[in-house]
Amino acid sequence: MSETSEGAKDFIRQIVSQDVDSGRTRTVVTRFPPEPNGYLHIGHAKSMCLNFGVAAEFGGRCHLRFDDTNPAREEAAFIDSIKDDVSWLGFDWGEHLYFASDNFEQLYLWAQHLIGEGKAYVDDLSADDIRAYRGTLTEAGRNSPHRGRSRDRNLDLFARMRAGEFADGERVLRARIDMASGNMNMRDPVLYRILHSPHPRTGRAWCIYPTYDFAHGQSDAIEGVTHSLCTLEFEDHRPLYDWFIDNLPVPSRPRQYEFSRLNLSHTVLSKRRLAQLVDEGHVAGWDDPRLPTIAGLRRRGYPPGAIRDFAARTGVTKSDHVAEMALLEHCARELLNKQAQRRMAVLNPLKVIIDNYPEGGTEDLDAVNNPEDASAGTRPVPFSREIYIERDDFMEEPPKKFFRLAPGREVRLRYAYFMTCRDVVKDGAGRVTALHCTYDPETRGGNAPDGRRVKATLHWVSAAHALEAEVRLYEPLFSQANPETGGDLASDLNPRSLTVLEGCRVEPSLKDLGPGETVQFERLGYFCLDAESRPGSPVFNRTVGLRDAWARMQAKSK
Ligand code: ATP
Ligand code: MG
Repeated sequence: MSETSEGAKDFIRQIVSQDVDSGRTRTVVTRFPPEPNGYLHIGHAKSMCLNFGVAAEFGGRCHLRFDDTNPAREEAAFIDSIKDDVSWLGFDWGEHLYFASDNFEQLYLWAQHLIGEGKAYVDDLSADDIRAYRGTLTEAGRNSPHRGRSRDRNLDLFARMRAGEFADGERVLRARIDMASGNMNMRDPVLYRILHSPHPRTGRAWCIYPTYDFAHGQSDAIEGVTHSLCTLEFEDHRPLYDWFIDNLPVPSRPRQYEFSRLNLSHTVLSKRRLAQLVDEGHVAGWDDPRLPTIAGLRRRGYPPGAIRDFAARTGVTKSDHVAEMALLEHCARELLNKQAQRRMAVLNPLKVIIDNYPEGGTEDLDAVNNPEDASAGTRPVPFSREIYIERDDFMEEPPKKFFRLAPGREVRLRYAYFMTCRDVVKDGAGRVTALHCTYDPETRGGNAPDGRRVKATLHWVSAAHALEAEVRLYEPLFSQANPETGGDLASDLNPRSLTVLEGCRVEPSLKDLGPGETVQFERLGYFCLDAESRPGSPVFNRTVGLRDAWARMQAKSK
């Protein structure tokens, strides 16, 4: 049972619980209703966790319904990506896959029903005029001159709209409710518009399409949805949702409840903004690892469990709130720390020659796969006379607090030996190109029998055995916590959001890693093998580093 941090049920679960206890709801039915006009993002993950979560907790079911009422913006490819993402996150709609477009004929009949009851009419006003007639928040609207059309005339015109006699925008079907209503959504909302545009599923069968408002609640009713959970911007649409349900012979009575949407710092969560980033080429595609899309997070190496954990921790409320990117990263770190196998990799290699190690010699050392999980065992890591260490782990003239390798200083090579730096090799420009060191054969495994200590343990790879790899490091896509949403998104982009490192060296066991698998590179963070990898030339994405900004923030606030 997913609960808020106070240990109390969130308000949605309280409502569902009461409905079940009172017998009003027998089987809890929810739905996740994406519009196939883009990829899903982490905000959608929150909605899925709520809808699928509530259904599971109350022994009900959750439908996957595509809200495909606007063919101008929707594509079949998005349907596939959405299904993939929902499954990957761990949710199963079973046989309950639906499309609003499956209901087009029924919705048409219900629109006719409203006309028959005098509750809908065909309007010839242009979109601009409809807007002008609608009035404002402080001023009542005016009735359209076509509002008084007879029932038969309306039925005839509506049939001719369907038959394709009119051009896009020439006529609409509107509900006849109340042009003076305090709620703008009730001022004769549009139910159908003409759009001579093929639909990904119904092809050219229709040239009129229902609006979201007319399709959504009725689709809920057809499917037997009991609790229709949506975000707060639909709160003002609820009277209209109920008006349709009250005025149509629908087979069930769903109810809509609204919760606040998830916002996330340092990024944008709107398909329109995300599409803009993709279309303008600021990112490489919808699955760019910098994007908060499910596909991007997955490619970045986020485990689905971390995303679900994050969604649960952000709670279900009615108040606006921006979740910290640091919390999402914290959730990934916490899970990966338990799950991810440890490996060694050197991002910025510096060659080390161990002068007293036998030339041509090599040996396997035992490395622990996961200190958090003894059952993960150990693996052999080859060691030899020439190794690479991280360039940053050496300083020729170390300042006081630098405890890693320096001339004359001894350090530990993880799982291997103690090693002392003896000499520095430089090129003509004075840049260090290699180090000569010696090792102490008595310290195999990383401990000195005489008990002497060193202040640093370095990771390393054997030069002859290592694989060359490309590594991609990421920072937030936006430098601002709250990026410009007014229009000029590009000006807030973080120029350092992607750093590509070539010529990295990783231990040879990584050749067996599968695409999408995430490991910890010791001391460097968690890394996921990218699908763009080729045999022999792996590409890794850094999921998150090891430093935990969230944990530090929490500690400070205590
Ligand atoms: P966007 O504003 O990003 O384009 P949307 O609401 O138009 O999103 P839909 O495909 O219509 O996208 O959304 C499917 C479901 O996911 C809806 O029930 C919607 O309320 C929910 N949802 C979308 N964004 C969020 C969010 N940031 N937080 C929580 N739920 C969300
Ligand atoms: Mg929407």
